Amino acid sequence: MSAATVTNWFGNIVSHPQVIVDANSVDDIIAVFKNPSTYPSPVRAVGSNHSTAPCGVAEGGTLIRMKMNQILNIGPDTLTVQADAIHLDMAKALEAKGMQFYVNTEIGRLSAGSAACAGTKDASFAGEYGQVGSYIVGVKMVLPNGDLLEVTEAEQPELMQKVRSSYGLFGIIYEVTYKIRRLLPMAVHHTTYSLQDFLSALPDLKALGYSMMFYIFPFDNKITVEYRKYNPGATGEPNRCAWALRNHIWGTSGPKLGHDVEQNFSVPSIRYGIIDAFNAAWRLQLENIVVSDYTIPGDQIIHYPTVSDDSRYTFSLFAFPEEEYPAALTDFFKFCTDYYRQKGYRSNLLYVGYRIAQDQKALLSYSWNGTVMTIDPVSTANPGWDDFLTAYNQFCVDRNGCPLLNQTPGLTAAIVQKAFGDRLKTLEETRRQYDPENRLLNDYFRTLLS
Ligand SMILES: Cc1cc2nc3c(=O)[nH]c(=O)nc-3n(C[C@H](O)[C@H](O)[C@H](O)COP(=O)(O)OP(=O)(O)OC[C@H]3O[C@@H](n4cnc5c(N)ncnc54)[C@H](O)[C@@H]3O)c2cc1C
Repeated sequence: MSAATVTNWFGNIVSHPQVIVDANSVDDIIAVFKNPSTYPSPVRAVGSNHSTAPCGVAEGGTLIRMKMNQILNIGPDTLTVQADAIHLDMAKALEAKGMQFYVNTEIGRLSAGSAACAGTKDASFAGEYGQVGSYIVGVKMVLPNGDLLEVTEAEQPELMQKVRSSYGLFGIIYEVTYKIRRLLPMAVHHTTYSLQDFLSALPDLKALGYSMMFYIFPFDNKITVEYRKYNPGATGEPNRCAWALRNHIWGTSGPKLGHDVEQNFSVPSIRYGIIDAFNAAWRLQLENIVVSDYTIPGDQIIHYPTVSDDSRYTFSLFAFPEEEYPAALTDFFKFCTDYYRQKGYRSNLLYVGYRIAQDQKALLSYSWNGTVMTIDPVSTANPGWDDFLTAYNQFCVDRNGCPLLNQTPGLTAAIVQKAFGDRLKTLEETRRQYDPENRLLNDYFRTLLS
């Protein structure tokens, strides 16, 4: 059989699996493991293949495209789904029953299987986690020997912690159970600061008990903070326009503008003048329109098209210990402007960040040691992006940054070793127990776990 060409959603991670299997049932997955001569290694499963790192690549092997997407049960405090159910569909089904997720991260195509075993991020609410998987309390998997395994938080919390960072290296997940909560009104507002004012105010801002997400504009020396808080006492009708506007700018018109400006304006001062003007208008809209005492949490989740178009964007991410963030962010503003002056490159979109609570629910949690704040460059991958990311990776490593194996491109064994230390060894030892013949191990993980 000749190899097919497969890309991630954005289109910049290309691979050639020998065989592609659409998994419509558990038996389809078992058949892959029972017949290695027909289904060569590495065997990798993907949900929506949105990852910005090559964690789902099955070069020369077997790519399992998960197609099992049924919602199986919505209980009083749990949701059980098949692994390819996606975040947006699940959130809508929950809302119809007066329920919601704990973490309503914006990526609508996040599959349950990926959420259960790979990294995610969203700004944490007071007293809560910001990683979707931390509220996943059970999975069912097909192991590489073809056996089935169920893991639950209640029965095997330590194994569940490892599963949440297993990236499909222990087995293929076919069923996922989330802990869910009653639907609550949510307030949102935005404020823009200069970098210096933001850093001076940060200790007080943290004390307010809001979740904080950041739109970062190094070339304007500005940062816009998105504040969210549950507001159980809200009355009247929910505002359903606020997030719709944010979603349109963030998921469609912003990246499309970046793409079009890149195509049509070659003079940097004009190109980036347009982008800076757009970003200024965006800040105004965030402050004046994306503000309400009563929004619906699931409305933050963005519908991305199945096949990406001219609105596609990509990004990277490193998380910094929050006490080191003021220095890291100050250095980052200088890093971006220096890089542009010296190399002529800057991102044609913006940078964002999240404040995420300490969390040890997943073995490779990037907030294992304490609360973190992130710096995430976002781009349409304009020429120079890959080299910029190489420099950005070094910048972050030098400042104790911690990556995500599915969302930080360009990782090396040295970077992940510095970030995760012995936890990587634990993951590797557990992986070998479940997969002694390395059926699920692709080159990416072979390098990082070596
Ligand atoms: C435009 C865009 C916006 C994004 N926004 C966010 C965001 O707001 N928050 C966020 O956290 N992330 C975001 N992401 C990053 C990331 O892609 C997602 O967190 C998530 O990984 C996507 O889910 P997926 O189904 O596409 O995963 P995939 O890329 O398909 O898979 C991720 C990993 O999980 C493994 N896997 C998937 N399914 C299974 C399974 N059933 N069994 C075993 N292993 C499996 C894969 O092998 C791979 O290693 C975004 C990405 C893009 C491109």
